Amino acid sequence: MAETLIKNADIVLTMDDARRELKGADILIRNGVIAAVGQGLETQGAAVNANGRIVTPGLVNTHHHLYQTLTRAVPGAQDALLFGWLQRLYPIWARFGPEEMFISAQVGLAELALSGCTLTSDHLYLYPNGSRLDDTIAAAQEVGLRFHATRGAMSIGESDGGLPPDALVENERAILEDSIRVIDAFHDPNPGAMVRVGVAPCSPFSVSRDLMRDAAILARDKGVMMHTHLAENDEDIAYSLKKFGCRPGQYAEDLGWTGDDVWHAHCVKLDGQEIDLFARSQTGVAHCPCSNCRLGSGIAPIREMRDAGVNVGLGVDGSASNDIGNLIGEARQTMLLQRVKNGADAMSAREALEIATRGGAQVLGRDDCGQIAVGKRADIALWDAQTVENAGSWDPAAMVLAGPQKVRDLFVEGRQIVADGQLATFDLGATIRRQNDLAQRLVN
Ligand SMILES: [Zn+2]
Repeated sequence: MAETLIKNADIVLTMDDARRELKGADILIRNGVIAAVGQGLETQGAAVNANGRIVTPGLVNTHHHLYQTLTRAVPGAQDALLFGWLQRLYPIWARFGPEEMFISAQVGLAELALSGCTLTSDHLYLYPNGSRLDDTIAAAQEVGLRFHATRGAMSIGESDGGLPPDALVENERAILEDSIRVIDAFHDPNPGAMVRVGVAPCSPFSVSRDLMRDAAILARDKGVMMHTHLAENDEDIAYSLKKFGCRPGQYAEDLGWTGDDVWHAHCVKLDGQEIDLFARSQTGVAHCPCSNCRLGSGIAPIREMRDAGVNVGLGVDGSASNDIGNLIGEARQTMLLQRVKNGADAMSAREALEIATRGGAQVLGRDDCGQIAVGKRADIALWDAQTVENAGSWDPAAMVLAGPQKVRDLFVEGRQIVADGQLATFDLGATIRRQNDLAQRLVN
């Protein structure tokens, strides 16, 4: 029986049902699960001294495009709006292959882990030159993060009035067939699953209505979740009104894209009726505040969503539109933006951390993750309480206000992924060097 005891934490922010904050507490991990939380616990196994640490559930990232880690800060895309930004990047992404997908995913996952993330989804919607969803799943298995890969897709190219170049779109039958292949090969529906697979057409402006509908039917037949981009900015709303004659919420509802097995990225422009629809149907939202700022998309109505009962999690979004994949940084940005919009009392540091942990787990359908409570999976982040960032803080639990911005130790399913601020599972330095070589090759 494998046991690890996290001992004598300064404070444990449990995010359990009572939102308890426990001082001087221990956490006993047994076989990947939290076996006990309290004081004076003992073990015959390994012990980790958490004195001087703030302990939280691992953070949950609900939206990413890991492959974009290879295209950060690309000139010509740095200051463009969403559609122009995509048109600059599509031809570069068209040159990717399996190695680019694998290495970018490793770098992106490592970056997430170092910011306290234990569970991430990924939205891969283009498969040039033999790339497969399998490439990113292999990367996640090597890094050790819990991973929800989604089989994205684009099917309407330029010649059919869509945005992406024809070379990056796929035949809809092939998309559905490959979705079935990867679900059958990798999806684990059981509690504690390290890999799940979802179905994720890229957006209403890059696939047909038929594919949206067929993808929903397939996902429900297979019992997997569904994900896409929705209502990201004003252009997105205008496109929906012009092309479909309705707002994005209605489009989603008509095609079966609402429910507790669905989560939509961005939703910056949802109106009051759409917020009610999402609350009623328990449709989830992946809020990506830095990406929304970076692309000038606007401030998502997160306060209104939370008040209405919408499930909200956080996402760093792809590294071509952020360009940083720091998830605890997104929690801070969420809090700040809601205050810009609604005043200083609109969102507390504790609520922002709750959205980043428990909130994200709920959006991804993981009631076994996102909180420190007996029986939940042992996905746990230890943060240094004595850094230059939080020295002088009167309230370490308000860490979204004062930091730190990097994790000290990280456990996923009880396995230590980050130790003393460094990736413990693979050679990150060598991977970064390879990543820079690949980027250089794309530039030239
Ligand atoms: Zn996105």
